[in-house]
Amino acid sequence: MEFEELVEKVVKGEVKLHQVEKYTDKRTATEIRRKALEKKLGVKLEHIGHYSIDPEQVIGRNIENMIGVVQIPMGVAGPLKINGEYAKGEFYIPLATTEGALVASVNRGCSALTEAGGVKTTLIDDKMTRAPLLKCPDARRAREVAEWVKENIDYLQEKAVSKVTRHGKLRDVKPFIVGNNLYLRFEFETGDAMGMNMVTIASEEIMKVIEEEFPDVKYLALSGNLCVDKKPNAMNFINGRGKTVIAEAIVPREIVERKLKTTPELIAEVNYRKNLVGSAQAGSYGFNAHFGNIVGAIFLATGQDEAQITEGSHGITLAEVTPEGDLYISITMPSLEIGTVGGGTRVPTQREALSIMGVAGGGDPPGTNAKKFAEIVAGAVLAGELSLLAAIAAKHLAKAHKELGR
Ligand code: NAP
Repeated sequence: MEFEELVEKVVKGEVKLHQVEKYTDKRTATEIRRKALEKKLGVKLEHIGHYSIDPEQVIGRNIENMIGVVQIPMGVAGPLKINGEYAKGEFYIPLATTEGALVASVNRGCSALTEAGGVKTTLIDDKMTRAPLLKCPDARRAREVAEWVKENIDYLQEKAVSKVTRHGKLRDVKPFIVGNNLYLRFEFETGDAMGMNMVTIASEEIMKVIEEEFPDVKYLALSGNLCVDKKPNAMNFINGRGKTVIAEAIVPREIVERKLKTTPELIAEVNYRKNLVGSAQAGSYGFNAHFGNIVGAIFLATGQDEAQITEGSHGITLAEVTPEGDLYISITMPSLEIGTVGGGTRVPTQREALSIMGVAGGGDPPGTNAKKFAEIVAGAVLAGELSLLAAIAAKHLAKAHKELGR
């Protein structure tokens, strides 16, 4: 079929959006769908139609029914000095956002932290979880199954997980029983991948072994919602998911006063009354000023799963005045779900953004790139928290948004 004929057929619904690739290559199919939409809706989609990434590479892996791309302005903040266990040195942080003042604010935080000697980052835990649901005859049988699974982690790794992934490794399980329902929250190491596809495929293999072992137990759902993926929740806040990471710094009083135009005392007080007391009253999982802003902008720039910004915005900011009169500030992120291989990290623009931080692709040994990336994200989040808390303490927030955001 010719180009125009296909456009007409899509407009009339004779060829469905997802069927266009049957008649032509992926790049042309993308053009045809967009032209058909323009015609049907009477709109111009000129900018959506401008891109350099190859539809052949992303259709079927990252997107379906592709019509083009959305462009989000990207800026960089930095350099930010990080004294991590994996990230060592000065880094520029790519941020994709349409929120004016955000990059400027993070940049100011980077400048203060770098002058103060840098950010110390510490990885506390690293795991990806999946929690399939099994319906058991009763709670006692559920407990028996859970005990068998706990005792057979190595067996399940060998019999199920190793069949479907080289990097995925089952390391533990946390069972939850509600009535006759058994939720097996499996914990995996996933190398440099965020790991959701990997652990989903591996969990299905594990379910086959369990069904064979316990014929009276019914495997009902691959996710029983205790994973917990893409929803605000106490589980990940308490037990962690993805990377659990902490970033800390001591900022000398002189830098707080000169660069941030406020005092350690005021920052500590605003943090206590706003991020801790205010968030407690709100019943929030975000005892912080705006983790979501920095996490969101980095996720969009680097091809992370954007729905996991939800859990990435969980966490606690602490600020206190040291005996020397300086500012101690820290951020604790319990569930930062990120990767440097797989998913959207393969898209060329997003991969380039990862390369700005020196974390594109797999690490040597595997897992080290994703850990380094987590430390950089945590450092950037600390910069964002410091800058915003200082702006609030100095009552500069509205002024900055008036100047940069409108
Ligand atoms: P993936 O692309 O599905 O898996 C990573 C792949 O990279 C594996 O094939 C792995 O091989 C390979 N690999 C090569 N070098 C590696 C290294 N150094 N470390 C780790 N793996 C390496 O990516 P994923 O992170 O598991 O899944 C991410 C995607 O899942 C995203 O697109 C996200 O949107 C999506 N997602 C899926 C679900 C779901 O339920 N399925 C839910 C939420 C999100 P081996 O496996 O052989 O080790």
